[in-house]
Formats: sequence, structure tokens, C-alpha cells
Amino acid sequence: MCLQSAPISVPCTARHIICHTCCGEMKALLERKCPDCNEEFEDHWKPVKLEKYQQQCNTFFLEAVTQLCFADEEPPSEEVLSKLLSYVTCTSKNMNIFDTGVDPNPVFRSFLLQLMMKSR
Ligand SMILES: [Zn+2]
Ligand SMILES: [Zn+2]
Repeated sequence: MCLQSAPISVPCTARHIICHTCCGEMKALLERKCPDCNEEFEDHWKPVKLEKYQQQCNTFFLEAVTQLCFADEEPPSEEVLSKLLSYVTCTSKNMNIFDTGVDPNPVFRSFLLQLMMKSR
């Protein structure tokens, strides 16, 4: 297990964890076996997103943004704001849950939006 990117779980009985990069490689090679226990998956298996991990990423991200960008009297710069706005509108190309670990769900987006409104 290398975990160079976000962890996901494979559909074996033990729900072993691999990273998203490795999963992509397995898919590309049409690999259908768990690298840990060798259990076989069905033909079109899907990796399982780790809800808890996702949640923690979201929480961390929002806390970091709150403290780093909105803690001062000064509102954040245009650059920061437009970056954050791209998260809200999901236009950011980097906003892949597997790159950042952040899932831009409605709660997450409205929280960000509120932060931005307050700063204005
Ligand atoms: Zn990996
Ligand atoms: Zn397994």
C-alpha cells in the first residue's frame, strides 16, 4: 500500500485500502484482484469512497480556510476569493475529490459561500 494519493477501498470482503493512483493503474490493466488478499472482483468493479476520510478532509479544509483566509480583519485577496469561489461553483479543475480529498457537497459549498459573504 503506497498511499501516494487519496485512499479508497476495494470491493473485497475485507475492504482493503489502496490509493487512488494505484486503483487507476489496476483499472487500466483491467486488474480484478485485490492486491492484498487476491480476492477477485466482478468485471466492472468500482472503488469505494471512504466517507469518513472524505469528511475529515472537508472539515480540515474548511477549518484551514476559516483560520488562514478569514481570521483577519482584512478580507482575503481577489485571487484567494476566486479560487474559493471556484470550489463553490465546482469549476476548479483541481476539484477532484481524489486529488484534494475534498468532496464539494452542498454543505461544504454553502459554508464556503457564507465565509465569503461575511468578509465583504
Ligand atoms: Zn498507491
Ligand atoms: Zn482484499
